[in-house]
Amino acid sequence: MMLLAGSSATDALAQNEHDAFHYTDIQFHDIQMLRYKVEGFEQLTLKEKTFIYYLQEAALLGRDILFDQNGRYNLRLRHMFETIYTSDKVEKKGKEFEAFQTYLRRLWFSSGIHHHYGCEKFVPGFSEAWLRQQLALIGYAEPAEAQAAAHVEAGKPSWEELMPVIFDPSVMQMRVNQKDGDDLVLTSASNYYAPGITQQEAEEFYAQRKPAGDPRPVMMGMNSRLVRDEFGQLEERVWRVGGLYGPAIERIVAYLEKARPYACSAEQQIILDRLIEYYRTGDLRTFDNYCIHWLRDTQSRVDFVNGFTESYGDPMGLKASWESIVNFRDDEATARTVKLSDNADWFEQNSPVDNRFKKEKCRGVSAKVINAAILGGDLYPSTAIGINLPNSDWVRRDFGSKSVTIGNLTHAYAQASRGSGMDREFVIDQPTRDLMAKYGDLCDDLHTDLHECLGHGSGRLLPGVDGDSLRSYGSTIEEARADLFGLYYLADPKMLELGLVPDMEAYKSQYYSYMMNGLLTQLVRIQPGASIEEAHMRNRALIARWAMARAAEVAKAKGTKPAVELVKKGKKTYVQVNDYAELRTYFGELLAEIQRIKSEGDYAAARAIVENYSVQIDPTLHKEILQRYERLHLSPYKGFINPVYTAVRDAQGNITDVTLDYTEDYDAQMLRYSKDYSTLPVVNE
Ligand code: ZN
Repeated sequence: MMLLAGSSATDALAQNEHDAFHYTDIQFHDIQMLRYKVEGFEQLTLKEKTFIYYLQEAALLGRDILFDQNGRYNLRLRHMFETIYTSDKVEKKGKEFEAFQTYLRRLWFSSGIHHHYGCEKFVPGFSEAWLRQQLALIGYAEPAEAQAAAHVEAGKPSWEELMPVIFDPSVMQMRVNQKDGDDLVLTSASNYYAPGITQQEAEEFYAQRKPAGDPRPVMMGMNSRLVRDEFGQLEERVWRVGGLYGPAIERIVAYLEKARPYACSAEQQIILDRLIEYYRTGDLRTFDNYCIHWLRDTQSRVDFVNGFTESYGDPMGLKASWESIVNFRDDEATARTVKLSDNADWFEQNSPVDNRFKKEKCRGVSAKVINAAILGGDLYPSTAIGINLPNSDWVRRDFGSKSVTIGNLTHAYAQASRGSGMDREFVIDQPTRDLMAKYGDLCDDLHTDLHECLGHGSGRLLPGVDGDSLRSYGSTIEEARADLFGLYYLADPKMLELGLVPDMEAYKSQYYSYMMNGLLTQLVRIQPGASIEEAHMRNRALIARWAMARAAEVAKAKGTKPAVELVKKGKKTYVQVNDYAELRTYFGELLAEIQRIKSEGDYAAARAIVENYSVQIDPTLHKEILQRYERLHLSPYKGFINPVYTAVRDAQGNITDVTLDYTEDYDAQMLRYSKDYSTLPVVNE
């Protein structure tokens, strides 16, 4: 399972113009490319660096597998488009060329010709006539395997077969079709089932093979394509050494073997051995065994995922796309979470919550924070910011799972949003922007830590209260509880005492960004006329609007200015905080009430507070926010360019250092990967 960006710390807005690293790169269509910094790489030992070096090679070698999994013509199309793009004979200007360039950049981004998120096929902005012209101009001929496999009229070039794939909207419409009532296998363009196989056939095939009553069932079908043999019977073509995708998997295995001597521990060598054995045999019991070893290894500084992992790309949810990430623990960030966990009892006993609702003995959770070193396959360029694996139900039940958040990617998203102009548009004045620039990053991280390590774990239900009593309001209340715990304590002197903040000003940056997001900027993700549905978004609206209403109420009674309010400057609405310390008291009050609702299982109160504060949107304000956002021309989807790793070797060929370079641009990276990490023929049957 994976957590996508856009739900938590990535919303924070501030600015940091002193950061010389360029987090943003080109934009095309609905995509913006970002870069991430591999923080702390230089401080790793040579052994760890060498381990990462070999593993990142293994991570890049599976790229072709994903292209082929995403559609049977993708590798042929990539070859054709790249040949045109790099040919000296093609004129690199004009509207048609620009549209062609955008199409190719999208093809690289999606590892195929369907949108990476929406799954719909790209609509080319260039004409078929223009493409044919270029093909004639360069005298394009496909690789031999494509010519052999193509079904075209005698005398015609094999690439004729690709024209309807590009230009006919009715051909391969959706990569994954989930529409109820359709034959999902027949109508999905992904390449997990050979053409002509129906959903019913595929379902029957796997139903017959499901062993009855196996308490530890393997994830059947996850590492194969279902095809028809010469007699029309269904059979699996397993992805393994000597099987389908064998040439790619062999090269991956070779690099896993090179990495093995540099593993962090003997236990991690066993993990690599099991993975290699599984890649060689395709045996899913071996895969489960590998997963158990992997999830139990929480000590190794360097860690990795490499293999067939997530099944979002298969309409039946069986077959797993290939992905890889190499990463290492961020000890500083992890130390921060340990400091909070160690003081969990103090936080619990000193919270503004009624003593009846407090835990007597409180144990914090120290979440592992990692930095990504490379992204590959289905995690590249579009990626997750958190990962929880393995996916096998029985392994999770009997052995648990490993959960990580990817610190440097979250950081890169936040930095990119800072340069986006959001802050200039929505933050009220320069002093507030300065405050956010100075403390924004630190307080985002701390708020997330408090939320995850302490907030969710704090408090208790009264005896006899059912944990599900709040029903559909449960997750909003739970998220509000954790967020409020974080907000309340960010402003506590204890944070200074623990050395987690430099002074008692820092928390204000988070208070401002939280209120601005909850009241204004998070609305940009909602369509005009719709209401707020998602639990995290509801929780933020609830907290921000409740605090503002409470401040207004108190101000009215006392005849003073409210601690926080919405003000107009010209036609634009802004959040203005007049008294941060007073705002904190409202967060405390609300935390006590939210905890009471949770502890008592008070469904009526949960419903009332969520419905009153966090669902409806003022249409006039919404329209204003959407218009201001639109003028910034931001891309809704983002992906990452990888750094380039180079091994420095001595005369004997031993690695003496590994260096990093961040200057490669998007096109260059994609073309280099196609050249250096092409592991498969363009047709794989
Ligand atoms: Zn949460």
